[in-house]
Parts: sequence; C-alpha cells; structure tokens
Amino acid sequence: MRTRRGALAATAGAASLALVLTACGRSGDGGSEEKPGDTKGATIGIAMPTKSSERWISDGANVVKDLRAKGYRTKLVYGEDDPDTQVAQLENLITQGVKGLIVAAIDNKSLANVLQEAADAHIPVIAYDRLILGTPNVDYYASFDNEKVGTLQGRYIVHRLGLDKGRKGPFSIELFAGSNDDNNTKYFFSGAMKVLRPYLDDKRLVVRSGQTALNQVTTLRWDGTTAQKRMEDILTSSYRSGRVDAVLSPYDGISIGVLSALKSDGYGSAAKPLPVVTGQDAELASVKSIIAGQQTQTVYKDLRKLADVAATMLDDSLKGKKPQVNDTKTYDNGVKVVPAHLLQPVSVDKSNYREVLVGGGYYTESELK
Ligand code: BGC
Repeated sequence: MRTRRGALAATAGAASLALVLTACGRSGDGGSEEKPGDTKGATIGIAMPTKSSERWISDGANVVKDLRAKGYRTKLVYGEDDPDTQVAQLENLITQGVKGLIVAAIDNKSLANVLQEAADAHIPVIAYDRLILGTPNVDYYASFDNEKVGTLQGRYIVHRLGLDKGRKGPFSIELFAGSNDDNNTKYFFSGAMKVLRPYLDDKRLVVRSGQTALNQVTTLRWDGTTAQKRMEDILTSSYRSGRVDAVLSPYDGISIGVLSALKSDGYGSAAKPLPVVTGQDAELASVKSIIAGQQTQTVYKDLRKLADVAATMLDDSLKGKKPQVNDTKTYDNGVKVVPAHLLQPVSVDKSNYREVLVGGGYYTESELK
C-alpha cells in the first residue's frame, strides 16, 4: 500500500488521473459533470481463481483480449484456489499501479481489507461472476442469472425423470452444491431446490443419504475429487440395494467426480444405467461426456459475453460513463446492493449441444471429437 501510494505520488499526473477515473468509476450515477479520463495505456489487473478449471482459463484470456482491444494493458493472475494467495496478488497489482481491477473471488469474504487498499488508491473494482461480500468497495458485478442456473438444473432432472408428466417414482436423488465460500453456491442450490422441493415433499423424490441441507452438501473449492469421495461414501452407505436415479451437480468438475464414483460402483450398464447427472459451464470434458451418454446435462454460460460485459463496465467506469446494469436488487453483499449486469444461462444436453455450442461458435465440431 505504501509503495503504491509512493508510485502514484511519483507522477502528479498519474495521481490526478487516478482520482478523476475513480471519481467517475465510483460515482455510479454516470458522473455527468466529470470529464472522461484518458485511459490510454492504463493497466488493468485481472485476478482469476484457478487454472484447475478450464472455464477460468477462458475467462482470463477473454478479459485480456477485450481490454486490449479497448487500448488497455493487462496483468492477469491466478490464485490457485488459495484465498491468501489471491489477497497477496491483489496487493501486488495495487502496488504496481493498476488503474482498475476485475476480480473473480476465491473466498468471497476475504477481500475486504485489500479492496479498501484499492479504494484508497481510487481503483474501481468489478466483481467477476462471483460477488465479493462485506465491503463497500466493489463497484459493479458482472455475472449470469445464478438462481436460473439452479432452476435449469432442477427442471432438467424433473423433466428427465418424467415427474412433470405425472410419473410417480419414487426416484432417488442425491444433492451436491458448490463451495461454501462462493456466493453463487446458495443461488444455484436454491434455484434447483425450489423446483425439486415439491417432489421431495410428496416423496416422489427421495434423498436416501438424508443429506438435503446446503451445509451438508457443499463441496469446498468445487473440487471434483472431494465430490467423488462423497459420492462413494453415499453409494456405500445408502445404496447397497437399489439405484440412484439422479444427481444434482452444480458444476462440470463435480459431475465428472460423481460419474467416476458411479462408474467404479458398476453404473453405466443396461442393468445399472447411469443416473441423470447435471452440470455447469459446458467444459470440454463434460460436453464430450454428454455426447458419449455419460453426463446428462450442463448449463452453458457464454463466457465471451461475460468478459465483454466486465471489460465494458470497467472501461465505462474509467471513462466516466454509467455502465449498463440490468439488476439493482438481487445482489446485496452485506454492505450494499451491488449493481449487476446478468446474462442468461442455457441448458444443454445431447439434443441441443450442436445447435447451441457449435452453432454459437463456442466449440468447433472437431474439438468435440
Ligand atoms: C461459477 C461457476 C463455476 C464455479 C466453479 C462459480 O462461481 O459461477 O460457473 O462452475 O464457480 O468454478
């Protein structure tokens, strides 16, 4: 922080530019009287959570590309799923004099102090896909309709089991949720549970493990191996006889872990078919798995659009324009409601992957081979 201040003070021009930029960025009302700042050549820091999932690698590359096209330099860092590493990386970026930050948090509650440093240096902050909690120092939020992601997963299960067409079951289902330190987790889970709850209540769906509360089903850092282990334990304890018919999985990496546990337990034959397994992110391995008839569904989120929204929000903030938002109610971070631009997720399975993913230019046909 001291170094950052020193760096900013080194050129009065830089310091006053930063002040102009932030006044605009933080005003949230368009800062109509303020002159747009000259952002040419300014560096933007981008902090992504992990390279262990393909989606965040794409996110980093997409955001860099979009910011460069707008004339910015970029510094992209990955926190390897370690909250302390991410805090240290953000401190470094601030010290190095970045003019704006785009952050996908690892632990949504660990960033308040470092974002105070950003605020002190008048650096606008965009929360990227994951809302940052407990701080006033997050200006905008770029994401998808996260509750809808869960709704799509829940509806898919209901539809595939025929519950919406009057089938009575009972069908057995097991529930998985994301990391408890990711704000999205509760939205995904509640979106799915709102759809599944009536069927659980009238016992057309049964969770044999008994694990139905969010705090019983979370998966720290969205780790596929952790999910695999939990699925193995559930199969051992609750499915000595009978079969699991559906698994609510919030993310493709978790789905792959769940499928490994199922396959080791003999699922995947005509006598013991794989259950309906949902997912999220349309990661390559999962789309291939869907095509091969293993994972059943995923929720596609066009990351190219998300990167564009985030880069544009930051650019607008820095230039004193009011970023476009379409939600000013949902995302309360405990200190304020963060104005958000939410994109729409799309359910993808074997029947529409070609149209949505190939047709939409997200993957080529040969990438999916
Ligand atoms: C994102 C999901 C992703 C998950 C795990 C969430 O915050 O919204 O798209 O599957 O993190 O990386």
